[in-house]
Amino acid sequence: MSTILKGIAASNGIAIAKAYRLVEPDLSFEKTTVQNTADEINRFKAAVSESKSELQAIREHALQALGPDKAAIFDAHLLVLDDPELLTPIQDKIRDDQINAEYALKEIADMFVTMFEQMDNEYMRERAADIRDVTKRILAHLLNVEIPNPSMISEEVIVIADDLTPSDTAQLNRQYVKGFATNVGGRTSHSAIMARSLEIPAVVGTKTAIQDIQNGDLVIVDGNSGDVHVNPTPEIVDEYKQKQEQYEQQKAEWAKLVNEKSVSKDGHHVELVANIGTPNDLEGVIKNGGEGVGLYRTEFLYMGRDELPSEEMQFEAYKAVLEGLNGKPVVVRTLDIGGDKKLPYLPLPEEMNPFLGFRAIRLCLDRQDIFRTQLRALLRASAHGNLKIMFPMISNLDEFRQAKAILLEEKEKLVQEGVQVSDNIEVGIMVEIPSTAVMADVFAKEVDFFSVGTNDLIQYTMAADRMNERISYLYQPYNPAILRLVKRVIDAAHKEGKWAGMCGEMAGDEIAIPILLGLGLDEFSMSASSILRARAQIRGLNKSDMEKLAEEVLNLSTNEEVKEHVKKVLSNS
Ligand code: PEP
Ligand code: MG
Repeated sequence: MSTILKGIAASNGIAIAKAYRLVEPDLSFEKTTVQNTADEINRFKAAVSESKSELQAIREHALQALGPDKAAIFDAHLLVLDDPELLTPIQDKIRDDQINAEYALKEIADMFVTMFEQMDNEYMRERAADIRDVTKRILAHLLNVEIPNPSMISEEVIVIADDLTPSDTAQLNRQYVKGFATNVGGRTSHSAIMARSLEIPAVVGTKTAIQDIQNGDLVIVDGNSGDVHVNPTPEIVDEYKQKQEQYEQQKAEWAKLVNEKSVSKDGHHVELVANIGTPNDLEGVIKNGGEGVGLYRTEFLYMGRDELPSEEMQFEAYKAVLEGLNGKPVVVRTLDIGGDKKLPYLPLPEEMNPFLGFRAIRLCLDRQDIFRTQLRALLRASAHGNLKIMFPMISNLDEFRQAKAILLEEKEKLVQEGVQVSDNIEVGIMVEIPSTAVMADVFAKEVDFFSVGTNDLIQYTMAADRMNERISYLYQPYNPAILRLVKRVIDAAHKEGKWAGMCGEMAGDEIAIPILLGLGLDEFSMSASSILRARAQIRGLNKSDMEKLAEEVLNLSTNEEVKEHVKKVLSNS
């Protein structure tokens, strides 16, 4: 039967394909006693051997489809499956305690995980993550339940999940994954952001997609409206095929602007730049006429791996981006891990409020080994292009001063070592915490630029978790409270002769763009796939009219009032 689920439109475009459910399997079991321990040990050995063949196949597939980097994770898992130090005690425990294999496996594996996680040695901590993963796989074989393996997808599908972590999303193969729909999440959760950078249509926050959609159901994901059709009638499929075509035509119109300037009708130029997560995204930036990169989310370099990326590896990635952009500006944000972005090999204590917790610059100032390695890689790469460095989640001036001092120390060391480092690296901050927006005039005296991170600034100003679909109505980019903070930041920057950009999702929003142009925002950083649409829009607006519009909306009272007013003004112009 044809049904429609309503969710939040997270990434534009329309996808039609069969459903592939990416669900966490139920791996619960009871502790039981066994009489025939030899049989139980054989059952365990069989599960290990099935896990091994499965992992070898996954590894091969990942190597072909995703490259050696992604495949290496599975090498580490295969090593664990061969390790007698783990396997022998499990078999001993089955024999000595006369208990079932599931229980013995879990007990011994948990003991190793706890032990490794507490070690000072980074390498051993990473092994803990591998053991956890492998245990899950053996357990699934013992219990005869299937673990979904997204890297094995080899036909066109729409992924259906409760939520997709950023690292799940990073592993999706664009060739086959045509769209996705999730139960939870908001427009600015990282799975949505990744979907936009991969140009995969997506709907998040449907609340029930996982319950309502079975493997193999035909699904339409309408990333423009937020609708998800399950087993649609042939008429609906035809209608959507037409919509798909219209959208492609619209995109072809915008594509004509790829080499044009981002300039308003009355001659005011702004920078339209891209948010990227990996050097692979550069292709999209160039194809969409990006004038640079306004946010390189470097944390994706740290994900989908089983150890910290080395200085050398990071250097290569940063250099590739800088060279790829050929002298155009590249704003690299230092590691912003925490919140919804976790690293399996860097276990952090569970927190009640991860978005308010130990993350981003807070973590980097504490784990200076990690921070300094990244800064050195960046400084070395600076000789290869136009690098700007930006610190995330700055909440007070001390944090900025400390981070900048560490940067200068590393620079000095490199210079002493005779390494070439650019002398023109601008150092700025993200404004995503209200305290920093309020103090923008003070910060502006010390930073080289601001970039407003509205995804977080809105969640902190409205006290509304950006991942929680129940309160997604509080994601209010046009609320005058937000607009006033943004104006404050732009004005403070200009007063000190600095520039102000925005790299939150608001920067690519069609209602927000006219207001931001009027407020004098210098740089708009967005998903590469939004750049040409934004350029078309800005080329049709007068900056002087938008200044008036901005003044008017700042004096309105609610998000809705602002939205309606902007729509009215745009439709009359
Ligand atoms: C933001 O908070 O607006 C931002 C751009 O950073 P992220 O979405 O990665 O938190
Ligand atoms: Mg942020």
